Amino acid sequence: MSQLPPKRHETQAVDIDGVMIGGGHPIVVQSMTNTDTADVEATVTQVATLAQAGSEIVRITVDRDEAARAVPHIREKLLALGVDVPLAGDFHYVGHKLLADNPACAEALAKFRINPGNVGFKEKKDQQFAAMIELAAKLDKAVRIGVNWGSLDQDLAQSLMDENAKLADPHPPEDVTREALVRSALDSAKRAEELGLGADRIIISCKVSEVPELVKVYRILAERSSYALHLGLTEAGMGDKGVVASTAALAVLLSEGIGDTIRVSLTPEPGAPREREVHVAQEILQSLHLRSFTPQVTACPGCGRTTSTLFQELAQDIQAYVRGRMPQWQKTHPGAENLKLAVMGCIVNGPGESKQADIGISLPGTGEAPSAPVFIDGEKVATLKGDDLARQFQSMVEDYVQKRYGGA
Ligand code: SF4
Repeated sequence: MSQLPPKRHETQAVDIDGVMIGGGHPIVVQSMTNTDTADVEATVTQVATLAQAGSEIVRITVDRDEAARAVPHIREKLLALGVDVPLAGDFHYVGHKLLADNPACAEALAKFRINPGNVGFKEKKDQQFAAMIELAAKLDKAVRIGVNWGSLDQDLAQSLMDENAKLADPHPPEDVTREALVRSALDSAKRAEELGLGADRIIISCKVSEVPELVKVYRILAERSSYALHLGLTEAGMGDKGVVASTAALAVLLSEGIGDTIRVSLTPEPGAPREREVHVAQEILQSLHLRSFTPQVTACPGCGRTTSTLFQELAQDIQAYVRGRMPQWQKTHPGAENLKLAVMGCIVNGPGESKQADIGISLPGTGEAPSAPVFIDGEKVATLKGDDLARQFQSMVEDYVQKRYGGA
């Protein structure tokens, strides 16, 4: 029996320059640059790389006039390169002023990210929030109301703490903080609607850096609202920790049908490619059978039966090969992203797993003959031998893709 996808939490659809978020549309992958936005060339290069990797919206920091002035040039240069990925501007503290002083920046962006905890203090907070929302409504731009527990609206948090303290049986402080996060997002969204921004232009997020807490917060948001939801574990961290924590959090929520767009906030290791966060986001969605981006390679972990590095090298080569071919296949061979490959280390599980894949290879383990049977659609079709197994297997994969997906 095929696996049923989770029933999606019903949300309002938001159109971000043609990229649909919410309303049952496929879950959108986003990313964020780490270049100085004032550096037009560096930002264009990174946005283009992230978009090429599959980021469907890219967020850039807009923190000062030089950055705001650069935004329209970044957009122009990207369009000249044929990259029309929507740009989201990330604003804190002075967003109202930057947008008012730089109308070309506001025009070039598809979405403003506003953090209600960082728009100003006291009465200025409401005025500055209103200025940004009214501009978004006038220009028909989408807005993400992005709450973050590292910059939670302190006035709101304090007033909820004070109310709680007066109760005969006060709630634990973490429950009050969670409520403050949710209220900050939902009250701000409601205020934005009162100021004239349609619910179909609003996305909300409430990011925290602890997995169980993120799950709790988004369950509440999903229960209390139908705004499109942007999911992400903030400050997920570096390396394995960042990948695992983001996956753990997002997988739980996505499996419950919660979340319309995701970002994986990895801290890149020095020199590591920024687009890793895009690949991880795609892998999460593909592993959950929510979307397909690139052929999946099933590989066994290897064990004492695999005595050479041939098996790991072949798995790595074929993964890199199909990922590299996917941008082209996407145009010429739609559907190739659903291809299932297997690269297995020996006869124990190799033939069985290879038969489950569209095309699989079972490499020789210790003591086996130096040959590798290949299975296509469950049937053994060839036995590869020699020093260039990787090239032979790639050629078979290429043939398979041409035959199966080449008709479009
Ligand atoms: S398929 Fe063979 S090599 Fe791979 S993990 Fe299983 S026993 Fe080990």
